[in-house]
Amino acid sequence: MSVALPTLTPGDAPAVAQPSAILGTYKRAPMTIVGGTGAELADETGRTYIDFVSGIAVNALGYGDEGLRDAMHRAADGLVHASNLYRTEPGERLAAWLVAHSFADRVFFCNSGAEANEGAFKFARRWARSIAGPEKHEIVGLRGAFHGRLFGTLAATDRPLYRAPFRPLAGGISVAERDLEELETVLLADTVAALIVEPVQGEGGVRVLDPGYLRELRALTHERRVLLILDEIQCGLGRTGWLFAYERAGIEPDLLTLAKPLAGGLPMGAVLMTDAVARAIQPGDHGTTFGGGPFVAAVAEHVVQRLADPALLAAVRAHGAWLGEALTELAARSGAVRAVRGVGLMWGLDVQAPAGEVVERARAAGLLVCTAGEHTVRLLPPLTITHDELARGVARLEEAVGT
Ligand code: PLP
Repeated sequence: MSVALPTLTPGDAPAVAQPSAILGTYKRAPMTIVGGTGAELADETGRTYIDFVSGIAVNALGYGDEGLRDAMHRAADGLVHASNLYRTEPGERLAAWLVAHSFADRVFFCNSGAEANEGAFKFARRWARSIAGPEKHEIVGLRGAFHGRLFGTLAATDRPLYRAPFRPLAGGISVAERDLEELETVLLADTVAALIVEPVQGEGGVRVLDPGYLRELRALTHERRVLLILDEIQCGLGRTGWLFAYERAGIEPDLLTLAKPLAGGLPMGAVLMTDAVARAIQPGDHGTTFGGGPFVAAVAEHVVQRLADPALLAAVRAHGAWLGEALTELAARSGAVRAVRGVGLMWGLDVQAPAGEVVERARAAGLLVCTAGEHTVRLLPPLTITHDELARGVARLEEAVGT
């Protein structure tokens, strides 16, 4: 898709934020995005930017993807919504596909990442109550975690600034240190129902949890009869170069949450679970009006098939390896970068300057990046990005980072 752009001279329009009727929960950049092609976005002046944000890990297939557009057109020819009082074919097919390609036996559909994690918390509690009674109810998250901003998920999210204005937070949910010895003690308590972990902590600074560490967590949770919930909302569905990040560690969780890229930019989340968990859930235990509707499910079926393509996953791994080396060299040359971390097409750079300043300088240089904490710049390019787009983006990043 090429975008019809307004007839402004690139860069000419004043970058002044106009008054907006949208509630100010986000500090928005002072331009308006009007369209995009491949891994590039265009603003209202016609200026283009290489996009290393992907709508915060949503636009895995980039912009103007023909297959995605056709899937949306086909989906629009069918039912848009029917409610969860009835079966619909796209929802059934998508659930069957996810079960066939993962550890899971059952799937619950919802509409966002936070909603998927809230669902996982409820399913974990229901399971724990069914095997041990109401005492076993606690959900434990890890230091540096981000699981969402609803009340349950906020209590498992380790971001003091997000939490402080909304206390008291939901009870029975706590944050533990990542340290294995400490976790062993925490999980000793008979009150713990589940541990929730992002295999790659995204918002918390792009911290790739070591596969060996994940295996230890799996062994520990098995031993303590605690469910392991993996939050792959940001790092799942191909972003690490594996369809699911857990595959890299050779483990299987009890529950797994997905969202962001799942329906190609349409709102959708999913909770995948084992039969042991699913058996504890009864009709009425949970629900959501829009979850897994036929329109989003039909689009998601196209997206997951594309993201599971071995050629795409191999390209993510190859591009990721190149990007990691390029960033390491950039860091060695610059002196303004303290550390580089990442896997696949998910990278973080610890920078000396406030990360927000680097984001602004990158935008001025024609590159979109985002932050992951005060001093970390986060890179999440579309998974379909070409080598040329990646290399041009890194050159602009070097300009933004400075020396
Ligand atoms: N979990 C992780 C790992 C995330 O990165 C996010 C969003 O950034 C969420 C949960 C929350 O997802 P949503 O914004 O769709 O509620």
